[in-house]
Amino acid sequence: MVELALGDLIQTRKKHPCGSDQWVVIRVGADIKIKCRGCGRIVMLERAEFEKRMKKNLGKAPAEGD
Ligand SMILES: [Zn+2]
Repeated sequence: MVELALGDLIQTRKKHPCGSDQWVVIRVGADIKIKCRGCGRIVMLERAEFEKRMKKNLGKAPAEGD
């Protein structure tokens, strides 16, 4: 299973339509919630689906002002 923590920066295999391929993990559980760093869109995925889409865990994301 993929190591995952709140606040981790994730790179996805496919780019979001906004052009960003980096997401911040905002919830970890049975489902994973990630927020696009490009446009702020929040997406919820089952862990299995998330692991398919994830390319790389880039580690702790820099703090965001929200
Ligand atoms: Zn986006």
